[in-house]
Formats: sequence, C-alpha cells, structure tokens
Amino acid sequence: MMHPGNRNRRVLRRQRTVGPIRAIFVAALLAAVPALDASAASAASYPISFAPQPINTNPVLPANEAEQVSAHVYVIKGFPNVGIIVGQKATLVVDTGMGPRNGAVVAREARRLAGRDQRLYLTTTHFHPEHASGQGGFPSDTIVIRNQVQQAELEADGSRMLGFFASSSALMKSLLAGVTPGKADILFDRAVELDLGGVHARLLYFGAAHTRGDEVTFVPEDSVLLPGDVVQNEVSPNLTCATCSPRQWIAVLDQVAQLHPQIIIPDHGGFGGEALIAQERAFLVDLQTRASALKAQGVPVAQAGRQIEAEFMQKYHGWQTLQNLPGSVQRVYADHP
Ligand SMILES: [Zn+2]
Repeated sequence: MMHPGNRNRRVLRRQRTVGPIRAIFVAALLAAVPALDASAASAASYPISFAPQPINTNPVLPANEAEQVSAHVYVIKGFPNVGIIVGQKATLVVDTGMGPRNGAVVAREARRLAGRDQRLYLTTTHFHPEHASGQGGFPSDTIVIRNQVQQAELEADGSRMLGFFASSSALMKSLLAGVTPGKADILFDRAVELDLGGVHARLLYFGAAHTRGDEVTFVPEDSVLLPGDVVQNEVSPNLTCATCSPRQWIAVLDQVAQLHPQIIIPDHGGFGGEALIAQERAFLVDLQTRASALKAQGVPVAQAGRQIEAEFMQKYHGWQTLQNLPGSVQRVYADHP
C-alpha cells in the first residue's frame, strides 16, 4: 500500500530561539506560559533526526520504546507515531494505534512515563482506524476529547473504515475484532487547552484537510506540534473525504503556520521542523495549480491524474504515496470554492 521512496539523508537544522515578537504572540494566546526561553533551550537536549523516513506500516506498536523528543513529549514510533505528553498532574495521549490491543500498549506506556497513576486524557488526530480504533484498550476512567466534526465523521464513516481495514489482512482483522466507533467525554468546536501541570496542550480544529475532522495538538512550552496527517515529511498529502480539497487544506496550513512549532511529529514517516509546513503548502499549491490548469484546458480528469502523477514522480522524487495523486486531482476537479 505504501511505497517507501528514496531516502534523502538531509537533516534540517532546528530553530532554537524564541524571538520577542513570537513570545508576545504566544503569550497573547495563552495566559501564564512559563519560561518560554528556558523550555526552548531544553528542547535542544533531545536530538531528533529531521530526515524523511519510510512510513512504518506494521500495525503492532512496540512496547517500552517511546522516544523523548522534548521536555514533556514522547513518541511511540509506529503505525501511527503516537504522542504522549506528560505533565505533573496529567498525561495526554494523541492517537491510539490499531485496535484495543495497541491501545492498551499505549496506555501502559503513558502510565510508565508518568511514573504514577494520574489523570489520563486521550485525543485522536482523525477518525481513521490506526488513529482512533484503540480507544477500548484504555482504562475506563480515561477522559476522551475530540472535536465535534471528527466525532460526527467517526460515527458516520467509522464502521465502514473499520470494515475496510479489517478486510486487508488476517492480523488487521484480529486487531479490529469487535471494535465499534468510540464516544467522547468532551467535545469541542475550535480549540481547547489542557493544563497537564507545568505544561499545556492545545487541541485545535482548523477545518478539513486529510479528513473533515483533522485535529492538531500544540504543546507551547516545548514548541512541539502533533499534526496527524495534516503536515508530513515528504509524504504526498492524501485527500480522503469527498469534500476535501487542496484549497481547504492550504487554509488549514495557514492557521497551523501561525503556531511556529520548532518540532513537528507527523503521524506517519519522519519528523521535522517548522519548514515542513511551507513544504506541505507548496506541494498542495502546485497540485492545485496544475490540476486547475488541465481542467481549464478540458483535459479529462483520469488523464490529468495520470499526467500529474508522472510529472510529480520526477519533480518530487523520493516522496512517498505519490500514487494518491490521481485521486487528489479528482478532488481539485470536483472543488467549487
Ligand atoms: Zn488517516
């Protein structure tokens, strides 16, 4: 399903300073964010590769292998990369892994990293099964939070997606046996901020991109962004919902860019710095521009899809999942601003 591309060993240098203008911007958004400069400096002590990485498609997450990426943020690398944000009084997990068995692995890891039994929050970046279907493996007192568009999408389309994934292999079928779309304890509209004790998590909904209900999580003290599939590292953006379009995805990225994260942890593939946002945006603008031009010339959509896929295979050599492009071109053809 995924084609690991040519690995580009480029390592981007991370921006480590927090300028006064940015500090004021962040302070205006968030009351009482402590010691931004000290936290940004501490991020430097967790060396992270910003090179693109092949997408990991093993649906079984590893236990006891979470890597620390900043003072408060840990990542279980796998399908998908799962974020764990540990504060002094609560822990937030971002995404569940595939089915309750993986969910239980993630919940145990969160408990181990917290070092004690404390309040556990769970949120999901979008409704697709590797991100949301492990909810049942978490302890029953876990507080589940997601945006209401995502919850509606999960309830409308979750069962179909579970069936689609379950039919792809015997392992997937066993991981997803008996799973139904989960409920949330807290639903939010655009934004919610969790005080985890010494660190905050901002859960943000900016609109449709990869799905209708994509959510991003920003940890201001560590300047870490967990963007789900909305920002990735040399992975072709995948427009999966009928109403998704590059135009809307670009509008989401323009809001994400205002967060100025120093560290971005996509759900699939390699990590990166703030530059990933502009890279993702440029690809989507290119896709939209080329597809709109071919549409204006009267080129049939299927032919345009094949043509743009061939062009982009050259132009974006080494990027993964470029085989999604014919479907993305259909989204541009169908989009009516
Ligand atoms: Zn997805």
